[in-house]
Amino acid sequence: MKLNDKTLVFFVSIMAVLVVVLTALSTYSFRQFSLYTAERHARSVAEVVKVGLTESMLNGTISKRPQFLSRLAGVPGVQAVRVARGPAVVKQFGEGLAQEVPGKAEKIVLDGGKPLLETIEQDGTSLFRAVIPYVATDQGVVNCLQCHTVPADTVLGAVSIDISLDEVKHQAIIAVLLVSLSVFVAAVLALLILRRMLRPLGETAQAVKDVTTRAIGGDFSNRILQRSSDEVGDIAGNINRLMDFLEREVGTIRTRVGELMGHHSATDGGNQLINTTEMVEGLVEASKFKQAIEEDQTKLDIYRRLGDVLTKKYDFRYFSIYEVDAGKNRIAPIIVDGDVGTGCRWCDPQILVDASYCRARRTGREVSAVESPSLCTMFHPEAGVGDTHICLPINQSGTAGCIVQIVCSHDEGYLTKSLVPYVAAYLKEAGPVLEAKRLAEHLRENSMRDAMTGLYNRRFLEEYVNQLVSGSQRRKSPFVVLMLDLDFFKQVNDTHGHEVGDKVIKALAEILVRNVRSSDMAVRYGGEEFLLVLMDTHAEAAMAVAEKIRQEVAETKVAIPGGILQKTISIGVSEFPKDTDTFWQVVKFADVALYKAKETGRNRVIRFLPEMWDAEGHY
Ligand code: GH3
Ligand code: MG
Ligand code: MG
Repeated sequence: MKLNDKTLVFFVSIMAVLVVVLTALSTYSFRQFSLYTAERHARSVAEVVKVGLTESMLNGTISKRPQFLSRLAGVPGVQAVRVARGPAVVKQFGEGLAQEVPGKAEKIVLDGGKPLLETIEQDGTSLFRAVIPYVATDQGVVNCLQCHTVPADTVLGAVSIDISLDEVKHQAIIAVLLVSLSVFVAAVLALLILRRMLRPLGETAQAVKDVTTRAIGGDFSNRILQRSSDEVGDIAGNINRLMDFLEREVGTIRTRVGELMGHHSATDGGNQLINTTEMVEGLVEASKFKQAIEEDQTKLDIYRRLGDVLTKKYDFRYFSIYEVDAGKNRIAPIIVDGDVGTGCRWCDPQILVDASYCRARRTGREVSAVESPSLCTMFHPEAGVGDTHICLPINQSGTAGCIVQIVCSHDEGYLTKSLVPYVAAYLKEAGPVLEAKRLAEHLRENSMRDAMTGLYNRRFLEEYVNQLVSGSQRRKSPFVVLMLDLDFFKQVNDTHGHEVGDKVIKALAEILVRNVRSSDMAVRYGGEEFLLVLMDTHAEAAMAVAEKIRQEVAETKVAIPGGILQKTISIGVSEFPKDTDTFWQVVKFADVALYKAKETGRNRVIRFLPEMWDAEGHY
C-alpha cells in the first residue's frame, strides 16, 4: 500500500472513531440532561399540585380538583397529572373519585414513601413518568395537619406526572446530528489539508523509489524533482547529489577499466556497475594469471595455462593457440582444442609454412568472422560445430608472436565476441611473459648448441643426462650410446688447413642428423668426436645404424680447393642399461669400443664387450 493511501486510511479510521465516539457521548449527555430536566419539571408540578390541593382544602374548593389537575396537564410538556389517594386520606375522607384509586406504581410509592421515576416507550413516543409521594408536613402557617388527622410525614397520596420526552428527544437528535456533521466537515477539511501537505512526501518517496531502482539496474542518470524546501526537499537534493557522484565516479572507473582492458565499453548497454565489477574481476584474474605464468618454467606451461583459461573459465571447446616463428615466417600449432601436439584443425595448413597467409599474424589485429564472415579465407569451418572464428594476436615486440583462434557455432558467435575483451586481458598479460620466455629459451638453446654444426654440445648432455636416464628407466626401454671419431683427422688440418677440417666436420654432422630419429640426440662431444644417443633401441639395431653412418661417411666426397676429400670414421657402441646402468660408464664403454676400433684398423664399428674393459686392466 502506498504511503498516501496508508495515511488516508489511518486518518479516515481516526475520524470515523472520533465521529462515533462524539455522537455516542453527545447522545448520552442529551439523554441524561433531558431526564434530569424532566424530573425537575415533574417535581415542580408535584409541588404545584400539593400547594394547589392544600389551597383548595382551605378554600373549600377541593371538589374542583379534577379541573385543577386537567389545567395543569395543559401546561406544555406535561401530558397528564393524577393524584392517587393514600389509605390515611381514604380513612378520613372516604374513597374519593374513581381516578384517585391508586394503580400499581402508585401503591409502591404510597407504601414506600419514595418517588418512582421511569421512562416509558409507547406507540413510538417517549414518556417520562414520575410518581411522587404526597407527604404530610406540619411546617409552615398553612400545613397539611390542619385538615388531616394524621401524624407528620404520613404519605397522604401519590402524584403521577407524565411528561412527554418527544420534543426534547427531537431537539437532542438535531443537536447530535449538528455536532456529528460539524465534526465530519472538520475531518474532511483536515483530511484535504493533510493530503495537500503529504503530497510532496508521497511524490518524493515514489521518485526516490524509481531513481534508486534504476540505480540498482546500473542507470544513474535519473534525478528527483525537489518539491519543497523542508526535510523532504533535502532528501531529494541529497539523492540527486548521490546520483551525480555515482554517475561521475562509476563512469570514470568504467572508462579507466575499459581502457586497461583495451576496449571502450562506457557506452555499452546493461548494468554499468555489474559490467564494471566484471571488468575489474577480469583484470584481477588476468593479473593473477600473469603472476602464475611468470613462475611457469616453460613456454608450453604458459600455453597450457592459457588453454585452461579458455576451456575452464570461458567454456570454449574449440580453439587453437599458434606460435609464430618470425625468423622462418612459420606458424606452429601448440594447443588445439585443449590438446598439445595434435596438429592444425581449424586453418588451412598453408599458414604453417608461410605465416603471412594468416590474417591475424599479418595485420597484428583481431580478425573476427562473427561480424564479417569469410574475412579470413584460411579458416576451415565445420558446419554446426565451428562455423565461425575470432583470431586474437598476442603481441610480442610489436608483431603477433602468437595467435589465439576461438572457434564456435553461429549461435554462439555474439556471446563469444562479448567475451573477447576478457580473453584479450589475459593475452595482454601473456604477451611480454611469453616474449621473455622465448628469449630465455632461445638463449638457453644457443648455449646448449655447438655453433659450427648446430648439434647439441657437451653441456647439454650433462644437463639432460638425468632426464634421459629416468625416462629410459620409467619406460623400461634401453638406449644406445655411439662414440664416433674421424680417422686420421689431424692430417686433414695439417695438409689442407683448418678450414677444410671444419668443412669435413660440418659434413659429418649433417650425415649424423640425417641418420638419427628426431627423438635421438646428436652431440658434438669434442673436436672431431661425436656422441649419438639412440633412444628406445638395443645395441643390435644401433649397430646397423652405426654401420650405415660409417658407410655413408666413407662414401662422402667433400669438395675442397683443388679436388675432393674422403674420410672414414670409427665408432664404438655401448648399451644402457645392459652394459652398465650408469650413464657416464656407458659413455666410457663406448669410448673403449671406439679405441678398439681405432686399434684394430679404424673405419669400423665395434660393439663394447666386457672383456675390453678387463683388457684395459680394470676390475
Ligand atoms: P685418430 O683419431 O684416427 O687416431 O687420428 P687423429 O688424427 O684424428 O687423431 P685425433 O682424433 O687425436 O685428432 C684430433 C685432431 O682433430 C686435433 C685437431 O687438429 C683436430 N681438430 C679438433 N677439433 C677441430 C676443429 O674444430 N677444427 C679442425 N679443423 N680441426 C680440429
Ligand atoms: Mg680422430
Ligand atoms: Mg679425436
